Formats: sequence, C-alpha cells, structure tokens
Amino acid sequence: MKEVIVIKLDEHELIIANTIHRLKKEARSHSPGIFTLLEKLPELHLSVDACFLSNPYATELFLRILSEEVLKTQKLRAFLEFYPSQNQAIAQNIAPFIGIEEKNIFVANGAIEIIQALMHRFVQKKVVVNIPTFSSYYEFATKDTKVLFYPLKKEEDFRLDTEHYIRFVKKHHPHTLILINQNNPCGGYLPKERLKELLASLYFVEHIILDLSFIHFAYEDEDLELVDLEGLFREFDNVTVLKSMSKDFGVAGLRVGYALMSEDKIRALLDNGYLWNVSGLGEYFLKRVMNEHFMRQYEIVRKDYIRQTQEFFTALKDLESLKIYPSRANFALVELLDGSRAEDFVAKMLIKYGIYVRTCKDKIGLDGEFVRIASRTREENQKILTALKDLFGK
Ligand SMILES: *Cc1c(COP(=O)(O)O)cnc(C)c1O
Repeated sequence: MKEVIVIKLDEHELIIANTIHRLKKEARSHSPGIFTLLEKLPELHLSVDACFLSNPYATELFLRILSEEVLKTQKLRAFLEFYPSQNQAIAQNIAPFIGIEEKNIFVANGAIEIIQALMHRFVQKKVVVNIPTFSSYYEFATKDTKVLFYPLKKEEDFRLDTEHYIRFVKKHHPHTLILINQNNPCGGYLPKERLKELLASLYFVEHIILDLSFIHFAYEDEDLELVDLEGLFREFDNVTVLKSMSKDFGVAGLRVGYALMSEDKIRALLDNGYLWNVSGLGEYFLKRVMNEHFMRQYEIVRKDYIRQTQEFFTALKDLESLKIYPSRANFALVELLDGSRAEDFVAKMLIKYGIYVRTCKDKIGLDGEFVRIASRTREENQKILTALKDLFGK
C-alpha cells in the first residue's frame, strides 16, 4: 500500500516556510531562537516553543525566588554595578554542594564555553564523537584534530552498543572520547552501572568528556530519584564531567554551567583567562540553587515534569504516522513515516498551529525525515498532541 503524504504547504505557507529555511540556514547547526523568529516573521502566532529543551516549571520556581529576593529589593543594582566573584571564588562556594573539591571545579558561561575550551585546549589528535549529536563537539574541533564519527544505528533505536563501541575505540586509538548521556537529539540513556562498566573498560583512553546536560531528566527507579553520574568523576581520572544548567533548571538565558576536571586542566584555563566569565546574576543563581532547601522544592517540579514528559511520549506513540524513539530525556526524536518532509512538517506546525519544533535535517548521522519535539507544560503538550492529531488524522 502506498503511503499518503499528508503534509503539503499552500502558497502562503510556502513563502513563510522559505523565510524559516533562511533563518535556519543563518543559525547554522542550531535553530533560530524565538526572538529572531518573531522579529523576522511577525505574522506568526507562536503558542508553544517545543524546540528549546527546558523544564518550564523549574524556570517558574527560580523566577519566583528571583522576583522576591532580587527584583523587589535593591539587589539587582549590585548585580549590575559590581563585578561578580572570580571563577575560583564561585567554585569554592558551590564545592560543598557538588561534593567535589574546588580545585576540580570550573564554572562557566554555559556548558558551551566549556566545550569550546576543551575542544581548543585539551582535545588533540583524534576525537571520537557519536552521531547524531550536539554539533559543537565537532564544529569546535581545531583544524589539527581529526574528528572520527561513531554512528549510532537507527535499527537499534540509536542506543549505544557498548561492546561494539569499545572495539571501535580499540581499533582507532583516539585521544579523546565524547559521551553525552542522555544523548541529544536521540534521548538515549546509558544507566549508571553500564556507564561505569564502559568507563572502566576505557581506562586506556587519555581523555573522556562526559556531558550530563540532561541528567536531571533521567531516572532509574519508580521514585524518579536523581541519578548521580557526576560522582563518577572521582572514580575515573581520565574523565571530565560537563554540566549545563540551561535545560534542567530552565535558565538558558543566564548562561551558567560547570565542569569537573583535573587540576592541571583548570590551572591551564585559569592562568590564561576566564576570570569573570560568570555574571553576577549567574553567580546568584548558583549560590541560590545549590543548597538542600532549594533542591527540596526543585525535586517536586523535576519529578512532576518527568512524569508529564513520559505521559506525553506515551500519547505521541499512538500516532501512526510518527515513530517516537525511546527517550529518557525531556525531548523525543521523532521520525515522520508518512513520506512528509521534515522541513514541511516544521513549517506547517509553526504556521498553522503556532508550535515550534526542531528539524533534524542538519544533524549528521540521521538518514530520514526526523524532528525533535520537546516536552513543555502539560497544557502545552496537550496543544502539541491536538495539533498532531489534527494534522495526521490519527
Ligand atoms: C544545550 C547543550 C549544551 C550547552 O548548554 P549551555 O549550558 O546552555 O551552554 C551542551 N551540551 C549538550 C548536549 C546540550 O544539549
């Protein structure tokens, strides 16, 4: 039976779709932000941003605190007027909460700053990057670094086959490995024990970068307890751990993140820059959230969001025109099975329903029509489901 291609754009939609394509091209391997999108296409009525991957409930929680403690008082003035603390002073402040010595903590203007620093300074010769992936890991490689792609297989739902991976690494002798757990854009997750086994087998590799940007959305038991993978830093001295705050705490605009790495590496970075790389507001955020009191409140919104996200994925799986790949993150990689093109789907969702999802056309290692859909609030997820049912009929 021949499949019916559902999504076609009319003339008016095509004009807007072309502008969306152009903005996407200008944003290169990332997606145009909603500010850009709405500025360039004021006729769009954006109702749900399911392109960006954050917990909206966590944003609300921090916003309430910020509003009470900073905006309604005179503190904001100090954040504008004065220099923030220096890198190491902030590290010292958060070290007790992270449970790692400050000499191994590097705070940054978002995890992206750490990726850039690592790729430029400490990734040499050959690096293995699993694809599809977060593009900065190969884009920021210097011209002297050889990037070797390790393709995750669609037939295996993009899961990492650790045995096969280890054989690949042994064959190619890379200097550095990149492991993103859960991986973006697939959402695949390697449970703690399996990750530990993998790292133990990779003792002979000089440097392993473990990116835990989505780890708060992972779970291994029914209570959805936080999985502590950061602690693996203590067990494996070739591992650098990277933690973005943008997704789980919903504060991408603040630009904060941190890394756990060897003292030598941190010394090399700090001797040569990064003095005030975290803003006053970023410093306030780190201080304010890294304590037991905040985390108790945060745990409620984190767990609620995971539950709603998993319900959302279950509902998505009912749609016959879509394949939803298994995800332990807060987004799902989705394949269009009805023959529609990913770009037409993205344009249609945006123009007709005001829902912004990410095309994965630019992702190396994805063969087919793929998009990535983020989970948002329960109401927003409902809007996405309603739109998809309207679009595909079932
Ligand atoms: C978003 C993302 C980052 C960058 O996060 P920032 O802290 O906002 O710079 C790093 N790694 C992965 C895998 C991401 O998805």
